[in-house]
Amino acid sequence: MTLHIPGNGEVQLSESQIKNRIVELGQQIAKEYAGLEPHLICVLNGAWLFHADLVREIDLPLTVDFLAVSSYGSGKTSSGEVRLTKDLSLPLADRHVILVEDIVDTGITMHYLLSYLQGRMPASLRVAALLSKPSRRRIEVPVDYLGFTIPDAYVYGYGLDRAQYDRNLPFISSVEP
Ligand code: 5GP
Repeated sequence: MTLHIPGNGEVQLSESQIKNRIVELGQQIAKEYAGLEPHLICVLNGAWLFHADLVREIDLPLTVDFLAVSSYGSGKTSSGEVRLTKDLSLPLADRHVILVEDIVDTGITMHYLLSYLQGRMPASLRVAALLSKPSRRRIEVPVDYLGFTIPDAYVYGYGLDRAQYDRNLPFISSVEP
């Protein structure tokens, strides 16, 4: 048994808190997309665990795809530049797309992705994000399904990295401000 030690910052989300919230989000999505077949796009790398857990809580026929962007590199501040490093494999025309992101910080990445996806003519486009730091927003973006609102802190774990490590932690923690 590995002993995981959380950081000493103010954000602490336990494995069960994360799981319970994702169950609620999955049920909400299943209800709102009843009769449809949503297409859930995972933004790699950070959203991969959230996406994997969320799709298993949506009791509907659905499809998945993956894209990757780089914005932060291995540092802690946004460069303000978003680059697509892996494109989608499947077409979006007439699909009910839900973009699944780990965290919305300044909103720059989400803004870029939404206009990119909108250009591929989906039938609808919504956003699911596990975390949001509204106090850091530089561009307003819609978040239709939000796990948790958190203060301005650098968080890691459950898919989110700390200099590329700690993505495998089952909880989310933050570093000391
Ligand atoms: P934005 O473009 O909204 O400023 O940043 C979005 C991306 O920055 C997220 O998808 C995530 O990869 C990264 N990011 C923002 N805040 C944090 C954080 O607190 N921890 C980690 N690990 N990544 C973050």
